[in-house]
Amino acid sequence: MCKFNQNNDSRRIDPCIKGLIRYLNIQGIKTIASCCGHGKYPLTIVVRATDTGEGYEIVSGKYIVKRKKYFYKKDKKGCYYIPEISAQIE
Ligand SMILES: [Zn+2]
Repeated sequence: MCKFNQNNDSRRIDPCIKGLIRYLNIQGIKTIASCCGHGKYPLTIVVRATDTGEGYEIVSGKYIVKRKKYFYKKDKKGCYYIPEISAQIE
């Protein structure tokens, strides 16, 4: 995992999983969101579920209902997490 960079654009792919995401994309798996967790949360990669059209987090195998805007929520330090998968860390 890489260090969390607060100044990073949230749409950027974390450097440590760039190769993985690129590979998935080459294989035809379109990722819509991802975060390595930065040592605080588990690695999460969200794709569009082929059956329901909802978000599907491929590491945990959980369906994520799309929130207003994003799958991820920001914790107090600005690190992203998915509430269905991991509880917010103080
Ligand atoms: Zn990382």
